[in-house]
Amino acid sequence: MSDLIRRGRQAHRFVDVLFPPGRARGYANLRLLNSRTLPAQRWYDIATELPQFEWPWFIERTAPWETFIGLATRRARGSGGRLNCWETWVLIVDYDGKSAEEAARFEQQLRGFRPEPTMVVKSGSPHARHVYWKLHTPVVFMDDAGAIRPDVEERYQRTVLGLAHHFGSDPAVADTPRVIRMPGTVNHKPGRGGAVATLLDCQPELQYALEDFAEWLAPAPVPSGGTAQPAGRRGRENGSFGDEVDLLGEIGRRGWLLCDQGSDMWFIKCPWQHQHTTRSGVTETMLWRWDDRWCFRCMHGHCAERRIAHVYEYVRIERELARLDRAADARQTR
Ligand SMILES: [Zn+2]
Repeated sequence: MSDLIRRGRQAHRFVDVLFPPGRARGYANLRLLNSRTLPAQRWYDIATELPQFEWPWFIERTAPWETFIGLATRRARGSGGRLNCWETWVLIVDYDGKSAEEAARFEQQLRGFRPEPTMVVKSGSPHARHVYWKLHTPVVFMDDAGAIRPDVEERYQRTVLGLAHHFGSDPAVADTPRVIRMPGTVNHKPGRGGAVATLLDCQPELQYALEDFAEWLAPAPVPSGGTAQPAGRRGRENGSFGDEVDLLGEIGRRGWLLCDQGSDMWFIKCPWQHQHTTRSGVTETMLWRWDDRWCFRCMHGHCAERRIAHVYEYVRIERELARLDRAADARQTR
């Protein structure tokens, strides 16, 4: 069997667990990322478009990208954000071991764990695993009118956070708009050597109720709704990326955040908008994170060469100018 066919088959089996055919509703949100080009998002109707997918072709076409998929279905095309998250059929643990010893400890802990996982994915790093438990009925985040049900969202997040606490894994996957690497696709992060994310185990018949995980429920209250985020993500937004500038904070204070796409992707107002010769739509300038670093792209001609370093420089220069202004004001009032 050719490599593309084998990898396509893995992606297909994975997606069928995430969105059970004939039952899941809404759109699958795919996100294609690398450091060189603007991220691309795609939405596929789960009932009509996903079943038509030629998976080996998909694997081949997405090869230059990091390929992620939203864990939750989206109600409509066009946004990956929280307010568009409709339902999810899985619980997940995202474990990133730092060494073979840590990974072995995790494997052992997982072997003794009940309920038994439905799927295990080696996500690209040799010591990292994504573990999934399939639910026999979905967690539905929205009511019929399309409004978020905060109690349902919180229950789901507390379950995922509780599992993360139990396994010592990443709590950020509790974020409802979370996207996750697809098995069968390539991990392009530096140092991964182009490793392919691999579906190690898949038993779709293993299905559970959310209540089966009540033992691991993290205590209430957890942040839910509005601007609050699970702890992992909030911590990173506060600049523990080693950035000397709290970039998202700086951009938020300037009123440049236009749309939070969820999972480390934002549409922003371009700092150089005054140089644009045509009106900007909201989706033309984007900030995202890749391999724990910020990336910036603006689609306008004047900004074609601008990268994240220019944004940092802009923010620094602006802060310096503001400091000089304040100093001048202080001199005048003396
Ligand atoms: Zn621009």
